[in-house]
Amino acid sequence: MGPSPPERTCIGCRRRAVTAELFRVVATPGPAGATSDVVLVVPDPRRRMPGRGAWLHPDPDCVAQATRRRAFGRALRVPAPVDVSAVAEHVSGAPRDDTGVPTEQDTTSGSTAGDDEQ
Ligand SMILES: [Zn+2]
Repeated sequence: MGPSPPERTCIGCRRRAVTAELFRVVATPGPAGATSDVVLVVPDPRRRMPGRGAWLHPDPDCVAQATRRRAFGRALRVPAPVDVSAVAEHVSGAPRDDTGVPTEQDTTSGSTAGDDEQ
């Protein structure tokens, strides 16, 4: 009865879902010569950006879960700490304070997404 639609696993809740219910995120290298080692993870709603992608439900809980277990770095194969604030904004529609998201990181960086300047 026709091919089944493509499925991916949400890196937050780890459930499989058809790609139509998920959105893709990719890691983008920072600007050349940037001093920070933080890798920016951005939403790719058009699924066009090059590189390795990961899939998530458009749900703040899934983003929070993925952040907590550092699933972004693992899924996207990036060694550096990741900044997922763009993804969090994408799912929440508005900046939110990170309630329930522990910021403990065993790596060098203590900078957690503080770039709110207009
Ligand atoms: Zn999910």
